[in-house]
Formats: sequence, C-alpha cells, structure tokens
Amino acid sequence: MEAVLAGLFGLLIGSFMNVCISRWPDEKSVVTPRSHCPKCNALIAWYDNIPLLSWLLLRARCRHCQAAISTRYPAVEALVGVCFYWICRDGISPSALKTCVFVAMLVGLIFSDLETLLLPDELTIGGCVIGFALSAVSPIADNIFATLAAAAGFAPATRVAAFGEAALGGILPAGIFWFLGWAFEKLRHKEGLGFGDVKMIAMIGAFLGLRGALLSIVLASVTGSIVGLAWIWVTRKDASTYQLPFGAFLGAGAMLTALAGQEWYWRMLI
Ligand SMILES: [Zn+2]
Repeated sequence: MEAVLAGLFGLLIGSFMNVCISRWPDEKSVVTPRSHCPKCNALIAWYDNIPLLSWLLLRARCRHCQAAISTRYPAVEALVGVCFYWICRDGISPSALKTCVFVAMLVGLIFSDLETLLLPDELTIGGCVIGFALSAVSPIADNIFATLAAAAGFAPATRVAAFGEAALGGILPAGIFWFLGWAFEKLRHKEGLGFGDVKMIAMIGAFLGLRGALLSIVLASVTGSIVGLAWIWVTRKDASTYQLPFGAFLGAGAMLTALAGQEWYWRMLI
C-alpha cells in the first residue's frame, strides 16, 4: 500500500521534473508563469495536466492548437513513478525517501542532458547540498572516512563521520575529474569533460559516497563508450565533433547503483 502511494506521488514529482527539464536549462523559473503550451501559449487547465492520463486522453496533442506533446512528458512521469514504487516496495523509510529525492533529480539531469546537453546547477549544486544534508538522516553505508580518521588517530562522532563520508564522496571523485578535464584542455586545447559533468559527479558522490560514485562513473564510461560509438556508426556522425551526453550516462549509472545496490559489483572485483 505504501509503495502504491509512493508510486502515485512519483507521478506528480515526475510531472514537476518535466517543468524543470523544460525551463531550468533556459534559466527560467519553475514557479511562474503557469504551465502553458510552448506552441500556442494557451494555459494548460488542471484536467489537461494530470500525469500520464492527460497525455493519453489528449492523444499527445495540445487541446487548443493540436501541436504534438513530446513523449518525454509521460516517459519522465512513468519512470519516476515506477522508481518510487520500487524504492518503497518494503515501506517508506528515511533511506527510501533519500533515494527517491536522488532518483527524481537524476531523471531531471538525464533528460536535460539528452535534450539540451546542459546540466542545470539547480540539480547538480542543489543536489550536492541536499545529498550532504540528507546524509545526517540516512548515512552512507561506506566506512572509508571513519577508517581514514582512525588511521590518523581520530575517533569522529557518528554524526561527524556521516557528514565526512558524504563530503569525501562529493569532493574526491569530482576533484579528480576536474583535474583530468583541466589537464586534457591544457594538452589538447579542447574541452574533454564539461564542468557540468564534474558538478554532477560531486552531486552523485554526496548522495552515494565514494564507492557509489566510483561505480556510477565506471558504469557511465562503459555504457557511454559502447552506445556513443554505436550511435556515431549508425547515424554516420562526425566522431571528432560529436558530443556525447555523458551526464545522461552518469545519471543512468547512478540510478542503477541507487536502485540495485552496489555489493554485486564490489564482490565481483574481489
Ligand atoms: Zn497549443
């Protein structure tokens, strides 16, 4: 029952994420103006704004001007709804709520990157802050910060250790990627990795910790190279100018890590 409610709530959050995806990359407010058709500007009535249902009933067209409504709208709503249902399948808990927030933000980042190649700061930097804060309610299961602190002769309090774990995950992988991107730019005189990707890695690390961030990066790099090369081959695009939406792959990797756990991966390595 709790899972069904969470799933329905996820549809609403998905609907809100659609507004963010449409507006944040253009630096527009998500509060005002009210939702309107991008083609004819007609305001969208509440009964035409019900997640999934309205899109189906309107047969994917604006009621006023018949302009097509992108399948991204129902896709994002369904995806967030299904994820919330899955995350809360054993009931609603602080850790489930944290994962729901994380996944909703990742869906926003994935679709922003696919549509505009932009990763809005509201989700990357905002996500860093939220992930760091939520580590107090639902600590990251890593024990890396505490181990390092113990090796240095400190015994941090539980709360401090929880923040330390999130800070370590948020800073270390992003710092390494920022340095690699900077070095690549100095050597090759072109941008290899956007700064948006670096901020997104920091956001993932603040939610998942060091190990989860590393696994997300591994998954993104493997799937990104395979899909990117296949895409260039199928569409015959110019490989030297093609820009891979790496943030979308990072987002998918982080979602898999958050939804399926990561022990399978670390066990495979040992
Ligand atoms: Zn219209």
